[in-house]
Amino acid sequence: MTSALTDRKRRRTIVRAAAALAVIFFVSILVESATASLAERVHTYVSSEFGIFANAYLLETPDGVVAIDTTLTVSDAKAFRERLAALGRPLLAVLLTHGHPDHYNGLTQLAAEAEVPIIATEDVDRVIREWDARKEEQWKSTFGDEWPTRRTFPNRTIRHGDSVSFGGVRFTAYDLGPGESHHDAYWLADDGTSRVAFIGDLAFNGEHAYVSDGHTGSWLKNLDSAHWALAGVALIYPGHGPAGGLELLDQQRRYIEHYRESVRTLARGRTSLTDAEKGQLTEVMTTFLPKGRLTFLISNGADAVAAELAAEASPDRMLRRDER
Ligand SMILES: [Zn+2]
Repeated sequence: MTSALTDRKRRRTIVRAAAALAVIFFVSILVESATASLAERVHTYVSSEFGIFANAYLLETPDGVVAIDTTLTVSDAKAFRERLAALGRPLLAVLLTHGHPDHYNGLTQLAAEAEVPIIATEDVDRVIREWDARKEEQWKSTFGDEWPTRRTFPNRTIRHGDSVSFGGVRFTAYDLGPGESHHDAYWLADDGTSRVAFIGDLAFNGEHAYVSDGHTGSWLKNLDSAHWALAGVALIYPGHGPAGGLELLDQQRRYIEHYRESVRTLARGRTSLTDAEKGQLTEVMTTFLPKGRLTFLISNGADAVAAELAAEASPDRMLRRDER
């Protein structure tokens, strides 16, 4: 009698477990197909090598297209605008992830005439305006006519956690603070059934990273907060390199940690590296990421990160930094 009862109980448990598994299986299929539907509406424009392989995105909605970032050079911006024109739908808005020229220079080509909202977080907008003239001075001679004579800035700002909706897709802004640039942000797109994220240069998927703004410590913290916030998002679109999952953030963390440790070893507390040491750093990092392009960024960022590490190590310097 007792054993018959136990058997029945066991059978009931097995049936319940099987039913639960079936529900999980069907829900996961539903989630996957819904995600694919939003991801299938994302068009990726990959810039030329001269345009630092910067990605810019077009997301199609039933009402028109939303662009996320806009490329660096005049030629890439024109090609990006042609991609938009080929879709045969109106531009609804442009969303920016951060204030580096390889992500906003193309605004003039894409949207200056369109009279659409160009949206960034308040601090991303501030960084663009504060640094634009200095960036032009620094890069104009390298890029020549490919540097747009006139740049266009955001015409609308948004606060962290606030959303805007276009064509039934809700875009939520996540403000990160200093990281790859002097102020980073990213966007989460949600159509009610699926979510994808446009993370700007929070991760360079498979490429060497720009660390010259010297905020690698806070960049690591940003990766942690984004990892938490983006759990369950099926596809993440980075500022450089192909889209992927959360592993993009893990790879970026390992890259930054390796870069910081290598600079720490070479600098031994100094705030800059010699040319020979920068050569050694380039060797170490290209061994770490042998297929990565943009290798010129490795030595470019060395002094900024050496200074950052020296400041982290010295409480006095940290205090002076905080008092500024
Ligand atoms: Zn970039």
